[in-house]
Amino acid sequence: MSRLRFEAASERGRLKLLRPEPKFLRDAKMASREVGDVIFLSDADLEILALALQLKSQGYEPSIVTDDYSIQNVADKVNVNFAPLITFGIKFQLKWLRYCPACRKKYPPDYKFEVCEVCGTRLKRKPRGKTRIRGG
Ligand SMILES: [Zn+2]
Repeated sequence: MSRLRFEAASERGRLKLLRPEPKFLRDAKMASREVGDVIFLSDADLEILALALQLKSQGYEPSIVTDDYSIQNVADKVNVNFAPLITFGIKFQLKWLRYCPACRKKYPPDYKFEVCEVCGTRLKRKPRGKTRIRGG
């Protein structure tokens, strides 16, 4: 039944399946690295963000509907609207500081490993500062 509905919708052009171009995927990755959320995002998450960027560049006004704080955080960074389904969404754009809870070594937000290079402890993160989101 849902398959039928899917086919009917795509025939009428109401439902479109799009894949983001590599350029926008790169932009999405870069933005998520900057805010330090890249390790919390799956490939599918990044594709959603990339697609939003692509549609925006084509003059559309896309909104990402998600309850994922990392997606919301990156969406805000690249000025894409997002709408939470259940939660109220984040009020601040967070910049993360990553650190080792054991030896206290600090890491940049885009550090690509999940464990401390000194002692091998799993890294934690905490907000390094926050910027109030427009209108929030
Ligand atoms: Zn350590």
